[in-house]
Amino acid sequence: MALDRKVALTIGLISLGSFMAVPLAVGVVGGLLSGGNSCTAAASVSFTGSNQLTGMSAQEYLNLFSKDDQKKKLQIATQIYAAGMQRTPQETPKAIATAIATGIQESNLTNVETKASDGSDSVGVFQMRPSQGWGTRAEILNVTYAANKWFDTLHKNVKGNLDSLSMITIAIDVENPNLAAYQKRWNWDKTGTELLSQVAAPGATNSCQSTGWQLPLAAGTYRINDIFGMRINPVTLRYKLHDGVDLGAAKNTPIYAVRSGTVTFAGDNGTYGTYVGMDAGNNVTIGYAHMSSIAAGLKKGDTVTAGQVIGYVGSTGVSTGNHLHLLVHLNGKPADPIAFLNSNGVSLEGSKR
Ligand SMILES: [Zn+2]
Repeated sequence: MALDRKVALTIGLISLGSFMAVPLAVGVVGGLLSGGNSCTAAASVSFTGSNQLTGMSAQEYLNLFSKDDQKKKLQIATQIYAAGMQRTPQETPKAIATAIATGIQESNLTNVETKASDGSDSVGVFQMRPSQGWGTRAEILNVTYAANKWFDTLHKNVKGNLDSLSMITIAIDVENPNLAAYQKRWNWDKTGTELLSQVAAPGATNSCQSTGWQLPLAAGTYRINDIFGMRINPVTLRYKLHDGVDLGAAKNTPIYAVRSGTVTFAGDNGTYGTYVGMDAGNNVTIGYAHMSSIAAGLKKGDTVTAGQVIGYVGSTGVSTGNHLHLLVHLNGKPADPIAFLNSNGVSLEGSKR
């Protein structure tokens, strides 16, 4: 598999090895998504086994790129994470971290659109070849498809317990590369695992604030398509209250609980489509509408913590495209989510792409 080797080679020369005893607990790197907050939060990703977390930290890696490129790489890591979380059974943190690390090794987490005329047909994040049965070029350029294909191949090629294997061993078994060159370049155990922590709990940086509120979608993954207030409904053409904020994002982008609370509704909710409602305490309720699916196993009565994945962006119910319609009710009445979250230290405007 070919690769944009420029950056990989440069950072491959830096030795940042460290040895950690098992079990590994992986801390969240603070500040990557909130723009400089140095706060660190409780571990959200951990796995046990023989893996040694050596190599470059997520922060050191991302610092090699422009702010825009950092956002794109975090978006791709988020898509790989979402694909892994939506599989049955769900992929383990070790498998997902290895997929992200492989994406770094193969493409620097870039959806590479190589053309046949470039002399190589390796495309996408994992540099898969249409000529070798990975899928069509268009399919492979869909990050969710590519991630699923990567996980499929993982389970076909790698037998036994992943936790007893090193990440590079797993990656090599999936990718079937030129061994020596591949091993020489591999520096991503720590990077992949920390990036997974980052995208699995993007609000962790906010959770160090006393308010305990956080973004519903990872910073940089959404646009604000419509705000709260009176408008002509694009589907019914009636002038009425738009009772939430519309955050446009790619299908299956993970949705996070903006606050710890109790699930009051999880299922089909008519025009709101697939919907999760939660009681956040203090007469505040939060609604998440139009999901493609609800997080596996989540049901009414469950307790959720801020930052937990509760579902995925979709376009179910009455909707004109993939987006999260986020509702905030104060004492039973709809309120402006942007203003409400602002008053709790979370800026939807400040984190959009
Ligand atoms: Zn809406």
